Amino acid sequence: MSDDRKSKLDALKARYPEMKLKDRLALDQQPMQEQAPEVRRRNIKEVPLGYDEIAAQLEAMRCLECKKKPCVAGCPVNIDIPTFVVAIRKGDFKKAIGVIRESNCLPAVTGRVCPQEVQCQAQCTVGKSKKDVLQSVSIGRLERFVADWEREHAMLDIPEPAPATGKRIAIVGSGPAGLTVAGDLRKLGHDVTIFEAFHKFGGVLVYGIPEFRLPKAIVQSEVDYLEKLGVHFEPNVVVGQTLSIEELLEEEGFDAVFVGTGAGLPYFMNISGEELIGVYSANEYLTRANMMKAYTFPDTDTPTIKGKNVAVFGGGNVAMDSARTAMRLGAENVYLVYRRSEEEMPARTEEAHHAKEEGIQFLLLTNPIAILEGEKERVGSIRVIKMELGEPDASGRRRPIPIEGSEYELEVDLVIEAIGNGPNPLVPASTPGLEVTRRGNIVADKELCKTSKKGVFAGGDIVLGAATVILAMGEGRRAARAIHDYLATGEW
Ligand code: FAD
Ligand code: SF4
Repeated sequence: MSDDRKSKLDALKARYPEMKLKDRLALDQQPMQEQAPEVRRRNIKEVPLGYDEIAAQLEAMRCLECKKKPCVAGCPVNIDIPTFVVAIRKGDFKKAIGVIRESNCLPAVTGRVCPQEVQCQAQCTVGKSKKDVLQSVSIGRLERFVADWEREHAMLDIPEPAPATGKRIAIVGSGPAGLTVAGDLRKLGHDVTIFEAFHKFGGVLVYGIPEFRLPKAIVQSEVDYLEKLGVHFEPNVVVGQTLSIEELLEEEGFDAVFVGTGAGLPYFMNISGEELIGVYSANEYLTRANMMKAYTFPDTDTPTIKGKNVAVFGGGNVAMDSARTAMRLGAENVYLVYRRSEEEMPARTEEAHHAKEEGIQFLLLTNPIAILEGEKERVGSIRVIKMELGEPDASGRRRPIPIEGSEYELEVDLVIEAIGNGPNPLVPASTPGLEVTRRGNIVADKELCKTSKKGVFAGGDIVLGAATVILAMGEGRRAARAIHDYLATGEW
């Protein structure tokens, strides 16, 4: 089989210089192998298995090398996509990863979790010609392939930082925003320390997104890279409690602070029964399952309730991750309860597709109205009501309206609420002069990430609200440039 594919690749390589655009457009998209649904729903290992060298080169041949590079405009950090794809086609994987790393310091992460279907791949000429975005060049899979190739072949070069500037920067929070600022500033010769509330680094990448979508060893290797670059890491420091921003600036001798504390405050529905045993926020449930490895309990210290019949409220990525985790922890029935239709669902199409394949039952146009007690203060069931869609609301999505008399009860023993997260309030509450919005997000300049307090910059979800990994990284890049300029000029 592999010999057949190799022969096909060699034959195509020989023909490639003469191939016309229409011949390249006719090339089949390379599928990505993945664990079968009936197997993976009971294990925690990664679902997609990734391209090998042959599949990656065959897929790269589908790129038309468009002069106007529309895919680049669709990438929030403007990776030079055609240049790295052409390098893969030619088998020069080292060059390909070098091109990506010029704009993106976490390629193994973004290759796995970026919503490419609404970003770069949505703009791809191949997908547009075929009138099907899913037929675009598989840019994300190619990015993942070269990032994994670099790690597996120990090809990661640690650059020599610029000569020491003598300036010290404190970064609060080790999510993608904080990690990006840290890497960029360290390369410029600054002394950088990351303060993190948890005992592990990576933010949502370690405590939220499950192992089966993003193996934790990959996040750890990105943290190791920064450590080798000379970034200092301080775990278990809750800024706002252990130390304040003002102490960092005035007593600890830092010249600037970047706040990247994310949106980790879970919202609840405020319906009756939320105090019962067996009701979790998605944040707590996923933290227990992922970071504390509850799936190996009692080998690890943290237990979690393993529901037999589980209800997850919500329709975003967090809801999908919670539902798929509950299935892996042994549930017989997992219901995803979402008040709109599948069309309005904010989750990535791929995640919803994977969830369905694994047997998650979608209860669409259905809204929970109460959680009911079973035995001994534990969850016994939920009461839900059917919904219909009315006119679009402020978000542009059609407003769900309850259908009178359509309530019914569903027996469940575990409820996970995944209806959204707000900004972590601790830093704003403990930092006088730091302006926040009505929702509690830190107000920061769009381009320079400067806050209302001199020397304090902010970016990522704490400013944007719950967004995406790549947007948090984009903010981190801009903030690092602005901090560097501020430290050089002293101008605010
Ligand atoms: P975070 O990643 O939230 O990191 C903030 C860090 O700050 C955390 O480590 C926190 O412990 C720390 N912190 C908070 N307060 C303090 C304090 N006072 N002192 C010290 N440290 C503190 N995005 C995608 O692009 N694709 C996906 O598939 C995707 N799936 C997701 C799945 C889940 C379950 C969740 C929750 C989010 C998902 N997202 C996804 C969103 C994405 O992960 C976030 O947008 C991104 O991580 C934001 O990065 P950040 O650096 O701003 O904050
Ligand atoms: Fe290649 Fe698609 Fe980008 Fe064109 S738009 S350069 S085909 S990846």
